[in-house]
Amino acid sequence: ELTIEDTIKWMQLTNDKIQKNKEHLTALDQVIGDSDHGINMARGFQEVMKKLDAATYETVSDVMKDVAMTLMSKVGGAAGPLYGTAFLKLSMSLKDSQKVDESSFAKALEEAVQGIIMRGKANAGEKTMLDVWIPVQDYFSANNVKADELETIAKTAMEQTKELKATKGRASYFKDKSIGHIDPGSASSYYLFTSLAEVIE
Ligand code: ADP
Ligand code: MG
Ligand code: MG
Repeated sequence: ELTIEDTIKWMQLTNDKIQKNKEHLTALDQVIGDSDHGINMARGFQEVMKKLDAATYETVSDVMKDVAMTLMSKVGGAAGPLYGTAFLKLSMSLKDSQKVDESSFAKALEEAVQGIIMRGKANAGEKTMLDVWIPVQDYFSANNVKADELETIAKTAMEQTKELKATKGRASYFKDKSIGHIDPGSASSYYLFTSLAEVIE
């Protein structure tokens, strides 16, 4: 079960990891992008925390809606609208719930993934954040979620983006040279889901 407090805690832990690994995310984006993913995400999540700290919430959905709106408006580049869409879909799917059970969350994740796909026109195997979101969503749909397994799945998925060739986003300009490097958006997605694992532990 995910409560309002859990959801806020989830965002705090994500923000901590993103601020701490800002340079790392930017370094990943330096190799196959334009060196701004750490900067974009750090700015976005800092604004998310400002927003959440200043508000009070009645539902998990409302927390996620503010996360979505903030990420959409404050994170530049490709990742902002994509993360924003994902959180908006989570928010819409979880409408009115004060506590979210595992099956509702699994369903909401499925809609979030569909949202990312619709917005970015990418799919599995194109070396994008979807290569973490999809395995995590599959895991939620098929299992009784365990924190350590969730952490392992997200981490393995991130690492496996190394082998992929980018065919969407800026990294696609690097063609075969994109192979051998972790996708920046998959790394930030890993921070998001490992933080979720800490919350549900
Ligand atoms: P930009 O590429 O505009 O500078 P960022 O560096 O913040 O934006 O984000 C790049 C990340 O966004 C990539 O590493 C990838 O994970 C993700 N991304 C880019 N394009 C897409 C897409 N079409 N679908 C899904 N994710 C994408
Ligand atoms: Mg970039
Ligand atoms: Mg950019």
